[in-house]
Amino acid sequence: MSATDYDLIVIGAGSGGVRAARVAGGHGAKVAIIEDFRVGGTCVIRGCVPKKLYVLASRFHDEFEDARGFGWRTGPVDFDWGALVAAKEKEITRLSGLYEQTLAKNGVALIRGRASLIGPDSVALSDGRNLRAPHILIATGGAPALAPSVPGIEHAISSNEVFDLPVLPKRLAIIGSGYIAVEFASLFVRLGVQTTLLYRAGLPLRGFDEDLRKHLAIALAQSGVDLRPGVSPRRIDKSATGFNVTLDDDSVLDADIVLAATGRRPATNGLGLDKIGVAMRDNGAIIVDAQSRTSISSIYAVGDVTDRINLTPVAIREGHAFADSVFGSTPRIVDYDNVASAVFTTPEIGAVGLSETAASERFPNIDIFETAFRPMRATLSGRSERVYMKLVVNADSQKVLGAHLFGPEAGEMIQLVAVALQMGATKQDFDSTMAVHPTMAEELVTLRTPDRQLRREQIT
Ligand code: NDP
Repeated sequence: MSATDYDLIVIGAGSGGVRAARVAGGHGAKVAIIEDFRVGGTCVIRGCVPKKLYVLASRFHDEFEDARGFGWRTGPVDFDWGALVAAKEKEITRLSGLYEQTLAKNGVALIRGRASLIGPDSVALSDGRNLRAPHILIATGGAPALAPSVPGIEHAISSNEVFDLPVLPKRLAIIGSGYIAVEFASLFVRLGVQTTLLYRAGLPLRGFDEDLRKHLAIALAQSGVDLRPGVSPRRIDKSATGFNVTLDDDSVLDADIVLAATGRRPATNGLGLDKIGVAMRDNGAIIVDAQSRTSISSIYAVGDVTDRINLTPVAIREGHAFADSVFGSTPRIVDYDNVASAVFTTPEIGAVGLSETAASERFPNIDIFETAFRPMRATLSGRSERVYMKLVVNADSQKVLGAHLFGPEAGEMIQLVAVALQMGATKQDFDSTMAVHPTMAEELVTLRTPDRQLRREQIT
């Protein structure tokens, strides 16, 4: 061990850590990154990437059905779960390999093992070695938080295990109605799984605009998901064929698999942070300033471990900004305004900016422009699918404060709407933009009068 093993030690090779390590390496820093699992982190290995692949797989269910309305005669089709799992595995192995190559290309040393901090500039490795660097970056992400108060919760799996189930379950019970719960409900029901969504709120997806939540609930029910709002599991017991989930309304649900999607917590356990005095919140999140610096000036943290906005692109930006600021010549901080997000249900949700409720709390006068319509494809397919779009506008400044989309490719659409919002677009900017016809997105530039009546009629 020397005083200067590395300029930077990064703990965790997920989205934020890999970006920071490779950019710092590119700036000429001597960098090591420590990882005890596969390189790529949650997003690549058991999050966004495999999830989206499974969502795409599930959508063929609708494609086969809808094709008939367009003149196609299709024969019997079946679905091979094992083939999907194997194909997914091949792809994430490829991506993980690319990450490793990128690190190597930038001179970053990849060290396999677990790390804990033993001082402001010192890290202990699980193989007994100690390493030192004047800068340490913690990018360990998050881990599923299973509701511990439910007896039998150990029978439940988390999103970590769901991708590699040896067989496709016949009956799936999902606890929670956040991003993970609704995305898996939407995809598994399309793969032919009898899916039940158990959630304690009245509507799924707390935090999103109320109207999107209502539309999502309708769409999930239409796709065959058994929605059970207002319930919590009281206990989970093993049964002869699977598990019995006893709910607090005294009903009992049989399931082959119980998926707990009840949130994630920052992965700080075992890092030794309390021992060296890194300040954390009660949930274990590392407290950082705008530069991602912790209460110890040589230690930084980015991504889900800081519990700011827990999205991959945010972690990447934070990691990049850290590396540019500390090792490059372009210090900067991350702008957290107008962070768009997508929920990959079918149809999708895309949202950016303030919800109607949040905008009403912040501004005295807001206008709501909205539309709900049947997409063109549904006219021939016969699918009872609705698209819903809402713009939240500051009535005084005419600035668009938020956009909330529910429909096919809403995730693609919202990325572009986010550019407009980031530039400070007004409602007139949307109105003066020529429509692209016939598209769903054209509705965004043809919303003319605030129409509250429509909302009352469409969603009750
Ligand atoms: P979320 O925080 O989004 O949702 C947690 C859900 O669990 C909520 O429905 C919550 O209910 C419920 N819940 C929490 N505790 C309990 C309990 N004790 N009993 C019953 N229900 C409970 O977490 P997720 O796990 O869905 O996702 C974690 C994070 O991963 C997200 O915050 C997101 O940042 C990220 N993610 C992003 C995706 C994307 O961008 N598309 C996709 C997947 C994940 P209630 O609402 O009533 O509190």
